[in-house]
Amino acid sequence: MSDYKVKKTDEEWRSQLDPTQYQVTRHAATERPFTGKYWNQTADGVYRCVCCGEPLFDSDTKFDAGCGWPSYFQPIDEGAIEREMDHSHGMVRVEVKCRHCGAHLGHVFDDGPAPTGQRYCINSAALDFDERKD
Ligand SMILES: [Zn+2]
Repeated sequence: MSDYKVKKTDEEWRSQLDPTQYQVTRHAATERPFTGKYWNQTADGVYRCVCCGEPLFDSDTKFDAGCGWPSYFQPIDEGAIEREMDHSHGMVRVEVKCRHCGAHLGHVFDDGPAPTGQRYCINSAALDFDERKD
């Protein structure tokens, strides 16, 4: 077990989150593509961890990957993200988790756009959005 700053019991997470958010973030479920809140959102702002509120992704790095999940080419801060090898479902993928609370966010792939070449494929249910107003 990693040593997360934000620790809650299973019961606490279950009461804080809605059922989809709970299954995705605490049990590494994947929401169905094109069903989440944010896959086609283009508003300007910051995407936070739905569990602990940590800022994870900025709309400036969001792009349309055509996959039905919100996709970003980099996190706001590499230190806010944890990567772990995932061998589930007969695939080898790199899982992306929140470094502060261990929430499952999604996966990262090496087929993203410049400048990073990375594609963070994230579940909408793992995110909260703060719109930037000027
Ligand atoms: Zn978190």
